Amino acid sequence: HADFEGLEVGYDIPALPGMDEADIQTPCLVLDLDALERNIKKMGDYARAHGMRHRVHGKMHKSVDVAKLQEQLGGSVGVCCQKVSEAEVFARGGIKDVLVSNQVRDLAKIDRLARMPKLGARTICCVDMMDNVADLSAAAVRHGTQIECLVEIDCGAGRCGVKTTPEVVALAKAIEAAEGLKFAGIQAYQGAMQHMDSYDDRKAKIDLAVAQVKDAVDTLKAEGIACDIVGGGGTGSYYFESNSGVYNELQCGSYAFMDADYGRILDKDGRRIDQGEWENALFILTSVMSHAKADKAIVDAGLKAQSVDSGLPVIFGRTDVKYVKCSDEHGVVEDLGGVLKVNDKLRLVPGHCDPTCNVHDWYVGVRNGKVEVVWPVSARGKAY
Ligand code: PLP
Ligand code: MN
Repeated sequence: HADFEGLEVGYDIPALPGMDEADIQTPCLVLDLDALERNIKKMGDYARAHGMRHRVHGKMHKSVDVAKLQEQLGGSVGVCCQKVSEAEVFARGGIKDVLVSNQVRDLAKIDRLARMPKLGARTICCVDMMDNVADLSAAAVRHGTQIECLVEIDCGAGRCGVKTTPEVVALAKAIEAAEGLKFAGIQAYQGAMQHMDSYDDRKAKIDLAVAQVKDAVDTLKAEGIACDIVGGGGTGSYYFESNSGVYNELQCGSYAFMDADYGRILDKDGRRIDQGEWENALFILTSVMSHAKADKAIVDAGLKAQSVDSGLPVIFGRTDVKYVKCSDEHGVVEDLGGVLKVNDKLRLVPGHCDPTCNVHDWYVGVRNGKVEVVWPVSARGKAY
């Protein structure tokens, strides 16, 4: 937890608990705590009702506090993250079950990974090449620890992972035979389809992934090798994995905060997923700093306050004004009706939540017009 001793609002931190929302220093990240809690409970309830474990993707928020809220309210079993340094932040913060849903190949990183169980965390990583097994094993033996390994299947994302069942079986056997390692199952995240607008298009992609993963899991079983974890699934697909009869762990991340790009995808009834399925809980709070031109308000959140890889932010709850352009420290808001004034505050829904959170130090959690909590972005910048 954050120690606020000696921190100055506006220099070190955007706000302190107890302040009025109106006094928050911008630009900064704001969390609507009611919406966040509802999202977390909803996904937790869904997973439980479908007999799925939920290992939330911590790379989205990089926050120990949010991960703990997901444990408490959503019954999550642990976190995924993408980097060893990120995993260490969660383990040091008290998360007891941490999966690096990624490949770890650098020997110094493998060494750090092998020490993670000493922080009290079950430590899991992914493997997709045979020569990685010996390196992971040597490090675990050196530290007297155990690393659990998932064989990663490329089921359509086109990045890491093996594509055929024989490769999966060969890796699983090698892991099982290696001292200090334990074969824990399959990692199979179909990342390329999550943001496709059409529900049916997403389903078609996941049907292929499920068939591929099922073949691998069934073949392993026939060889006497059980999968504790068959993991994957994201905000655009979790219902497919949950009803697949093959997967047993979800890895959703963005559902908790939502963003403008994800919000546009459609549910099975053709409704945007930010219009009922999930609520926007994450905002970039920004202030108008110039209205020198009648039709344009200039706000203080530009490129350094967000990632625009998936499009510009959308101004929450407003149709009369539009964020149309940004540069490093400026955002241009079209205000044809001249309705904004200097120092007015706007809530922006970021285009893409994960890389936006990574450029901030703090989350300001608000409820009923008051700052209730201020949480550090614990693994901010932990890209190693
Ligand atoms: N699992 C992995 C390995 C990922 O990389 C991601 C996101 O990129 C996710 C799950 C799911 O995240 P989201 O729910 O944000 O789509
Ligand atoms: Mn993302």
